[in-house]
Amino acid sequence: MRTDVIVLGAGIIGVSTALHLQRRGRDVVLVDRRGAGEEASYGNAGLMERATIEPYAFPRDLGSLVKYGLNRSTEVRYEISFLPRIAPWLARYWWHSSPHRHAEATRAMRPLIERCVEEHADLVAEAGVAPLMRPRGWIKAARSQARLDAEAAEAERFARDYGISYDLLDRAGLKEREPHLSDRVIGAIHLRDPNTSPDPGGLTKAYADLFIRKGGRFISGDARSLKAHGGNGKAGWRVTTGEGEISADDVVVAMGAWSNDIYERLGYRMPLAAKRGYHLHYAAEGNAVLNHPVLDVDAGVVLAPMNKGIRLTTGIEFAPRDAPKSPIQIARCEPLAREIFPLGPPNEPEPWMGLRPCFPDMRPVIGPAPRHDGIWFAFGHNHHGFSLGPVTGRILAEMMTGEDPVVDTGWFRADRF
Ligand SMILES: Cc1cc2nc3c(=O)[nH]c(=O)nc-3n(C[C@H](O)[C@H](O)[C@H](O)COP(=O)(O)OP(=O)(O)OC[C@H]3O[C@@H](n4cnc5c(N)ncnc54)[C@H](O)[C@@H]3O)c2cc1C
Repeated sequence: MRTDVIVLGAGIIGVSTALHLQRRGRDVVLVDRRGAGEEASYGNAGLMERATIEPYAFPRDLGSLVKYGLNRSTEVRYEISFLPRIAPWLARYWWHSSPHRHAEATRAMRPLIERCVEEHADLVAEAGVAPLMRPRGWIKAARSQARLDAEAAEAERFARDYGISYDLLDRAGLKEREPHLSDRVIGAIHLRDPNTSPDPGGLTKAYADLFIRKGGRFISGDARSLKAHGGNGKAGWRVTTGEGEISADDVVVAMGAWSNDIYERLGYRMPLAAKRGYHLHYAAEGNAVLNHPVLDVDAGVVLAPMNKGIRLTTGIEFAPRDAPKSPIQIARCEPLAREIFPLGPPNEPEPWMGLRPCFPDMRPVIGPAPRHDGIWFAFGHNHHGFSLGPVTGRILAEMMTGEDPVVDTGWFRADRF
């Protein structure tokens, strides 16, 4: 079987790239070992995060360092035996988080973040799945006046510097928007620019279905079967799938936290790490409803209203990518979540665990492989890959078809490491 482009990985990044290439007249085959949107793109908090313009930096203040160092926080947990392996990566992350370098990461990411909602809206409209995107924003809830003041100061700075819109809510104002949040929460910031999805995996699948309806092929296969025709890639590439061998001149590697399974074979070294995270769905007690995703900033827990129930999502876990999941993060977060919202019992037997593909300089790799004709990279979107799938797909397709990309792609080059 011959095609123009093989896209390896059917998460939000791969599916969006396949759609944008198809729009530009390319014949595309999407290959995944699972269904579309069943890994990180399934289990995230569903935020199309138009408001967090500045990437999450490694904390540099003593209080946070002590808190995380003690390894008891809800926001970050690490497996002690993994520390020696992840320490060099953490050191690079810390280095890139200096004020000057963090400002650089913000400059790089801002044009992508600012386009994330409109690029999703474009695909949502074409796929005809409006209920899978909600234009309501999300809420940062605080338990103390000091914390609310700090969040308000940051929101004000973001409004001034980046033009984001927000409402500062006291207890009564928050009660109007979220009547079932408990009195432990004393106020909130309602970020109004982001959209959210009640089913991010379902939305990714809806985009994949659109791709198939428009003539694209989605085939089950293991990306690690990728081989160069003739050995050097000049004459194209081939992948072995359940439906036989497919060959193409161009291959996109969009395998999230597994992308190193390909690029390392090609001889590249890049500092990709997986920040693991968990979710569990709960019923709401009685007639309680949650209208927006709510981040409890003091507890470091997100509660998001999903089609499957109230999804509690956790912060970061540093452990080997392929290690079994641990119950610790959900166990730490659940009691705190119950303090602010009347959660009923979980409505699934065990937590889900997923992998945020992360680079220490807080930006993805998007663009051509430096030393292999026809290989293109799109991975490492950190905490915001669900938001950035469609805009990434667009700019990579623009690069591959010789158009001028809508943003400066120099920041995302693979050879920057
Ligand atoms: C708890 C949590 C909450 C999050 N919340 C948000 C949020 O609110 N907003 C946001 O924007 N982002 C959020 N994220 C981050 C976001 O989910 C990810 O950045 C994004 O989904 C990454 O997409 P991807 O397509 O690169 O990877 P994935 O969705 O992981 O897709 C990778 C694909 O590659 C496939 N693959 C891997 N190896 C092979 C192989 N050998 N052969 C074939 N296929 C293979 C996998 O099966 C998978 O389908 C969150 C992440 C977590 C874990």
